[in-house]
Amino acid sequence: MSRQSYQIGVLGTGFAGTITGLILKQMGYEVVLVDRSRHPRFAIGESSTPIADRILAKLCDQYDLPELRPLTAYGSARQQSEHYRVGPKRGFSYFSHHSQPNHPKDPQTVSHSFDAGDREQQLLVAASQCEELSDTHWHRATVDHFIAQCAVRRGLDLLEDVDLRSIELETSSAWRLRGTHDDEELDLRVHFLIDATGRRSPLASSLHLPEETDQLRTQSGAVYGHFKDLDRSDTWFRHANTSDEHPFPCDDAAVHQITTTGWMWQLRFDHQITSCGWGLPRQYMPRPEEDLTIWWQKRIEEFPSLRQQFSDASVVAPEGGLQHVPRLQYLRKVISGRGWAMLPSSAGFIDPLHSSGIAHAMANIERLTALFPGAGALPSEACLHQYGKNMKHEFLWIDLLVSACYEALFDFRLFQRVCMWYFLAVIHYERQRLSGSQSPPAFLSANCQDLQTVIRKHLTDLPRREDGPLSRHQINRLNSDYREAMAPFNHADLLSTANHPFYQHTAAPGK
Ligand SMILES: Cc1cc2nc3c(=O)[nH]c(=O)nc-3n(C[C@H](O)[C@H](O)[C@H](O)COP(=O)(O)OP(=O)(O)OC[C@H]3O[C@@H](n4cnc5c(N)ncnc54)[C@H](O)[C@@H]3O)c2cc1C
Repeated sequence: MSRQSYQIGVLGTGFAGTITGLILKQMGYEVVLVDRSRHPRFAIGESSTPIADRILAKLCDQYDLPELRPLTAYGSARQQSEHYRVGPKRGFSYFSHHSQPNHPKDPQTVSHSFDAGDREQQLLVAASQCEELSDTHWHRATVDHFIAQCAVRRGLDLLEDVDLRSIELETSSAWRLRGTHDDEELDLRVHFLIDATGRRSPLASSLHLPEETDQLRTQSGAVYGHFKDLDRSDTWFRHANTSDEHPFPCDDAAVHQITTTGWMWQLRFDHQITSCGWGLPRQYMPRPEEDLTIWWQKRIEEFPSLRQQFSDASVVAPEGGLQHVPRLQYLRKVISGRGWAMLPSSAGFIDPLHSSGIAHAMANIERLTALFPGAGALPSEACLHQYGKNMKHEFLWIDLLVSACYEALFDFRLFQRVCMWYFLAVIHYERQRLSGSQSPPAFLSANCQDLQTVIRKHLTDLPRREDGPLSRHQINRLNSDYREAMAPFNHADLLSTANHPFYQHTAAPGK
C-alpha cells in the first residue's frame, strides 16, 4: 500500500475522538480517524450532564455541525431513534440499601433492603426542569456509530479494524503509523496525533509514557453490563405510596443504588435496556478467578430489594457477558507534547460516580480544538504543555471529590452531604461558564482556590468508617458546618432543610 499523508491523525473513534476530528475537518484540516474495532461496538460511559450538553451545543453551533445538536437534549435526541438510542436523564437519584445477608429466600416473605418510606434513605438532585430539555443516557454503540457516519459524510477518512504495529516520530514534524487495515498493510504519515483510545493508548506505549496513578486517592473497580427487563425503582415508591415528593420520575435519571460497601449505577435507555454496574472499593471486587455471573447474583442476594428488582433481568451486552475492571483509576504523567495530545480517556480516568466522563471529554475537546490556529497551522508546544497541565489538575480535583464520596459510603446521611461538595463544584462551574469569560474555566472549578481550600479542610476532618455511623446530632452539626463554609459558592441552596433531600431547583438556566 502506498503511504498516505494527513495533517492530523485521530486514534480512537469513540464520540470524543470523532467529534474532535469533525471539528478540525470543519476548520480546514485534513484528518484521518483510526480505530482498532468497527462500529457499532459496545462502549461504556453513557451518562451525559448539563455541562456536556452545553459544551456540545456550543461546539455544534461554532463549527456548523447541526447533525449532532439533537444529542444535546433528550427531547430532540429521542426523535432520532432510527439513528441511535438514548434514555431520559432528569438528574441524579440515590437510594440507600442495607445489607441483609441472612434474609429469608422464601418469595412469600417480604423483605426489603431499602425503605421507600424513609426520606433519609434517598437523595434526588434535579439537573433539568422538564423531560424535553433534560440530559440523556447515550447508548454508546449506536451513538458512536452515528457520529462516525457523520464524520464519513463530512469527508473524513475513517479506517476501522486497524491493528497498529508501530507509531514513530519520523522527523521532528511527522509521525509514521504502520500496521494493518482490514488485513492489508497500512502506512500513514501525519503531522499531529490525537489519542482518544482509552487506557491502553498505543501512543503512550510507543512513547513509554509513565503513569502517576499512585497520586490518586480513589481506589475502585467495576463490574458491569447491559441488562434487559430490569424492574423500575419507582415500584418501591408506588407500593409505599411515597413517590409524590420526588422532583422527577426517579428512574429517569442516573440511578445510584448505594450500599456501605459500594454502589450500583442504573441508566435506562428507551429500548428496555439498562446499563448496570457496581462501582466498588477494591477490597470488595471479585477475586481474579471468580465467575462474574455467580459473583453478581451473590452480591444482589445480600440486598433483597435489588434481588427483587433483578428477578427477571438478564445480561444482553457486551457479547462476552459481564465485564470487570479491577481498578478503574489511571493517570499519565505527561498528557501532551510537541505534535501530539491526548483526550481525557487516554490521559486518565477516575470513576463513574456522578458521571463526569462525557462532560470532561467535551470540556477538553473544546480546549484542544481551540489551540489549532487554522490555515493548516498546528498548536504551539507551550499551549500544548498548558493543556496537559490543566487536564491533570482537573483529574486530581475530580479524584478528590469522588474519593470523599467513597469514604463517606459507610453512613448514607454523611454520603448525601459529601455528594453536595461535588454538586457545588458542578454548579459553580456552570455559573463561571455562563458568566461569559473569554476562555472556558477549568472543569468543575478545578482552579478555584477558595473552593478547594474549603473542601480540603472538610476532607481532612471527614468522619472515618472505623468510628461507625454518626449520631443525628453529628449529622446536623456537619450539615450546618458545610453549609456555612460553602455559602460563597452555594448558588442552589444546597444542604438547606427546606430542600434536602429532594433538590428541585438545581438546574442551570436553559436546562
Ligand atoms: C466502568 C466504567 C464506567 C464509566 N461510566 C461512566 C459514566 O457513567 N458516565 C461518564 O460520563 N463516563 C463514564 N465512564 C468514562 C467513559 O468511558 C469515558 O468518558 C468515555 O468512554 C470516553 O470516550 P472516548 O470516546 O474518549 O473513548 P472510548 O469510548 O473509550 O473509545 C475509545 C476508542 O478507541 C479505540 N481503540 C482502543 N485501542 C485502540 C488502538 N490501539 N488503536 C486504535 N483504536 C483503539 C476503541 O476501539 C474505541 O472505539 C466510565 C468508564 C468506565 C471504564
